[in-house]
Amino acid sequence: IKIKITKIDIPVAFGSAFEGEIIRKGDMQVEFDGSRVDCCELVQTKELAEVEDHHFELIGKDFDEFEVGSKHSIAYVVEVAGKNMQPDFEPVFERKFHNYVNCIEGVMHTGQRDMIRVRISKDAFNAGFRAKDLAEVLYARIKSEFDAVVDKCQVKIYTNDEDCTKIRHELAIPAFDKRDERIGNMTDESVGVYYSCIMCQAFSPSHVCVVTPERLGLCGAVSWLDAKATNELDPAGPCQVITKEKVIDERIGEYEDVNEAVRKFSQGALQDVSLYSIMEKPMTSCGCFECICGIEPFSNGVCIANREYAGMTPLGMTFPELASMTGGGVQTPGFMGHGKQFISSKKFMKAEGGIERIVWMPKELKDQVAEKLNATAKELYGIDNFTDMIGDETIAEDPETLVAFLTEKGHPALSMDPMM
Ligand code: SF4
Ligand code: ZN
Repeated sequence: IKIKITKIDIPVAFGSAFEGEIIRKGDMQVEFDGSRVDCCELVQTKELAEVEDHHFELIGKDFDEFEVGSKHSIAYVVEVAGKNMQPDFEPVFERKFHNYVNCIEGVMHTGQRDMIRVRISKDAFNAGFRAKDLAEVLYARIKSEFDAVVDKCQVKIYTNDEDCTKIRHELAIPAFDKRDERIGNMTDESVGVYYSCIMCQAFSPSHVCVVTPERLGLCGAVSWLDAKATNELDPAGPCQVITKEKVIDERIGEYEDVNEAVRKFSQGALQDVSLYSIMEKPMTSCGCFECICGIEPFSNGVCIANREYAGMTPLGMTFPELASMTGGGVQTPGFMGHGKQFISSKKFMKAEGGIERIVWMPKELKDQVAEKLNATAKELYGIDNFTDMIGDETIAEDPETLVAFLTEKGHPALSMDPMM
């Protein structure tokens, strides 16, 4: 028997009116921040017998056991089962959490996967909002929006550090990696259509991601396959089919049909975008980017910083400083937000020469992407161990030291044309 949820039983209001609500530090009761401690959100498909519908479990402390204004780990795992459920739908549900949680009055959610940040306001807390209410929202929304495929749903919320670390590293990251692998060697040329995604318009009203096999959404959580599944589950939803038949400029990846779609979905705020250029008509960014790439004029290259990186970049800016000038749904030539997977893509700023332009990224990020990035560099330019030529914070945090290092390594960007 399926139960269709209409009203959500929580002590605060719920609705899209609260979606873009910002909660300032001073107004927050408690915060969960995945860029500093282990956090994640995850949907898992289970057998029908393994799921007790509407079951909720809290493993760890509840919100009233935390000090006012403190930061903690959180992991919420939503287990679903259904005759028509497919694991391909997991990322689709999961990406909707951003929207669901933001619709709660007095709760703010940013990010995705294991880079989430959730803030609970003092007002919501004082009204009685606790972990079970967060679970209730996830349960109720999943059951109502995806009732065609979800018969049963249960939610587990973990708030102790040890469990969160375990869930993140042993359950979530392997699941994310597996999903990322599915896109495999699909190319933009091998598909007939791309997809738009406007899930982030609550915070960035004019922002549209154009998702292609070789360029995933900048949040890193919406691949072309995920966008396709989103569209199949909800044909009138956030991901729409975009044809790509009318090429304007192959070099920068500009299409008349893509432009038309972007104009429509941005309500006219955006006129034209390219898929493969950071300088000419670049795609916009909301605030969810896993990474930001910005031009570094002294080396003719680009530096990339990821959200977890807390230090300085050779651009003289930290990640939050870069984010403040890149986000908001406006085109900012020279800067772009992007997913981690995009770094090893053959389409990564292809118009400006591609990944050969990458001169710096934080060491941890470099290690994460090394295998694939090196494979792409080898294939495109015949360079072995390309990441050895790329600087990081242990080598340089200023442009002079960086250029000296790049010169010593013979980095290809130094002999390329200036980008501006
Ligand atoms: Fe969609 Fe882009 Fe937002 Fe990701 S960042 S949810 S792809 S609009
Ligand atoms: Zn976003």
